[in-house]
Amino acid sequence: MRYTTLLFDLDHTLFDFDASVDAAFATTLARAGVAEPNGHRDAFDGINLALWKRVEQGELTPNQVGTMRFKELINRFGLDADADVMANDYITGLGHHGELLPGAGELLDQLAPQATLALLSNGIGAVARAKIGRLDLDRYFDAIVISGEVGVAKPHPEIFDIVFDQLGRPDKATTLMIGDSLTSDMAGGIAFGIDTCWYAPAAPDGAPSDATYRVTSLSEIPAIVAGV
Ligand SMILES: [Mg+2]
Repeated sequence: MRYTTLLFDLDHTLFDFDASVDAAFATTLARAGVAEPNGHRDAFDGINLALWKRVEQGELTPNQVGTMRFKELINRFGLDADADVMANDYITGLGHHGELLPGAGELLDQLAPQATLALLSNGIGAVARAKIGRLDLDRYFDAIVISGEVGVAKPHPEIFDIVFDQLGRPDKATTLMIGDSLTSDMAGGIAFGIDTCWYAPAAPDGAPSDATYRVTSLSEIPAIVAGV
């Protein structure tokens, strides 16, 4: 095996985050009394993206994002709603909705007996733990590190150090970070000094990346891990 320790991102890499967001956001809006959403989702996506960028830059914690995104949404649309209630509804919904991406379960089934697997996710602890429990993902991973629980996020090397400590300091030369985000997964792996595999199903060929590998399908990963 070329790689014996594999660090996996969760959202958009193994987990169908978009389906989860669709269901959770629709439920949250309905409970807040918005019967006919009109532009709310696009606005929310923009707000969310901007706030998570600030988490990557260390300006905000994941837990702060939970409520701030709904405060901004309420302000923008003049909603008569409570940001804390919406944030809670949304977090509950995210934990309850969404499945593994096609091929992700098969990939984990195949790789878990061959290598040491760890999950390294930027997100809110309650959301991540609800998904992990519901989808029975614990069985695959020797370490699970969620940024919202440890107070530091990818791409910061400190969160990679935390997962490395939990794994008993594996060899960096045989460790691979697998994820969809250039700014958190790939940049973080590169900064920590490990090889990286960018899962980019929709990116155009030749999209710029310093990642060691680029795949468009999860099914390409076992060959990379094996080094064939
Ligand atoms: Mg991701």
